[in-house]
Formats: sequence, structure tokens, C-alpha cells
Amino acid sequence: MIPEDAEIRRAVKPVICYPTETLPQLDLALYGAARQGGRKVDEVRVPPREARAFGVPAGHFFRITSVEGPQVGDLNLWNANDLSERFYSGKTRALHGTHLTVGDRMWSSFPTLRPMATIVEDTLNWYGIDGFGGSVHDVIGTRCDPYTNNLLNGGQYHHCCHSNLTRAFASETGFSIAESEPHIHDVLNVFMCTGFTRDTGQYFMKASPVRPGDYIEFFAEIDLMGALSACPGGDCSAEHSSDEAACFPLQVDVFASDPKVLEAWAEPEPNGYDRSHGA
Ligand SMILES: [Zn+2]
Repeated sequence: MIPEDAEIRRAVKPVICYPTETLPQLDLALYGAARQGGRKVDEVRVPPREARAFGVPAGHFFRITSVEGPQVGDLNLWNANDLSERFYSGKTRALHGTHLTVGDRMWSSFPTLRPMATIVEDTLNWYGIDGFGGSVHDVIGTRCDPYTNNLLNGGQYHHCCHSNLTRAFASETGFSIAESEPHIHDVLNVFMCTGFTRDTGQYFMKASPVRPGDYIEFFAEIDLMGALSACPGGDCSAEHSSDEAACFPLQVDVFASDPKVLEAWAEPEPNGYDRSHGA
């Protein structure tokens, strides 16, 4: 039964759930100054259909670059000193929206809920939101994984981002595969172009607009361990849980910053809630 006032109810205007004006303000000019003259201190090449881990000290920068061909990457982040603090895709989405770009932050899990990394550059910033409702660098997908693939297609495929990230985490930490898997979490889908269909609300992907030379760069707000998977979907124009798609490597570069510029800067404090939960 459609109620008589259905149209009136549907016509109620939305309000933003989490206005961001009261978030700690960021100083992109300070980050830009700190980046000037910063030398490269590390680089990691992520092979196609594999993942690699990397470390970024607080106050340093890391850049993910498309090389050789259009390729999507699945990014996990942890506090390098406490692996229980990790990227919280859902809350980041609630705060900044479905897709991230310059000035947006990657927030950590409860109870710390603080910025782990801030996006300072994004050469795909021009893309905006296309006619299908698609945009780039999403926090709406999860990560391609062998369980969903088994559910939908059957079989045992071992190079989904979830498994790639598990192996990379294990080799970086020395943990077993079984110990490592629970540390893998929902990702920032770097360079991936996604949205929800307007008619059925279904998650969609389309060929990424990324081209070799495009990059996204982050400022590390705390000591970070990262892991990046070069998704088996390649540019994610067709499928993402098989060896069918053309896949390319991704490059991660880590840059030091000018310590003099960051003298007055401090890492974000853990969240101020007292955790008593009214008990
Ligand atoms: Zn993937």
C-alpha cells in the first residue's frame, strides 16, 4: 500500500549526516612546504596481482603512481606501532563521502578515530562525478576476495586483493597467514572508478581513467605500515577475480619532509571519548 502522502514524504530534503566544519582543520600549505625539498627515501614496486607492504614514518609522504598501464590498487593502512589501529573505510565514507581526493583524510578505527593519512595531491582530481554517478578513489567497495568469488563463481582463486594483502602482511610482520588474515580490512580503492546505479542502487565499476604517470600522494599523520595490492581486475573495466584482465604494476614512493617546517606540527591525538559507555 503506497500511502497518500508518499510524494510528500519522499520530497523531504536531505541533511548532511556529518557536517565536517568542526573537524580539526588541516593546513595544506604547511604540508606543501614540508614536502618541498623532501628527498625520496624508499620505493616499492607492486607486481601485478600481488601486494607489497611499506613503511612511512609520521611526517613523511607516500605517493602511489600508475606505471606501464591503467591499474587499480587496494590500500590498507595500520599504525606501525599498534596494528590494532587501522583504516576505517566506513567512517571515512561517512565523513568525507563515497570518494576521496585532496584534503580528505583516511580515518582510523575505534577507539582512536583520528586521521592516519591526508591526501595532499591527486592528478585525477579533475574527474569529478561522471554522468553515471561514478567517481575515483572510492571507500564504498570492500576489496575483491576469494570468498565472494567462491560464492558467485565457485572455485579457488588466490590473487584477489584480500589474499594478496594477507600474504604481504604476513611477509612484512612474520605472522602466519592465519594470523595475518584478520588484520586485512576494507580498503581505499586507489584509482578505481565506481558508483551506485541510480535505478537499482547496485555497486558498479567502470574502466579507470588512470593513465601511466597519474598519482595520488598522502601525508602520514602517524607512523604507518601500508600494504597495496595491484588488483587482478587491472583497470576494473570487466572483472576482478580472475587472471583474465590486463594487469600492471603500481609504484609506491616514500619521501622525507623538511623537519624544520614541521617543528610546530604534532601527530593527531587519539579520540577524546572516555570509553565508559554510560556503564
Ligand atoms: Zn581487487
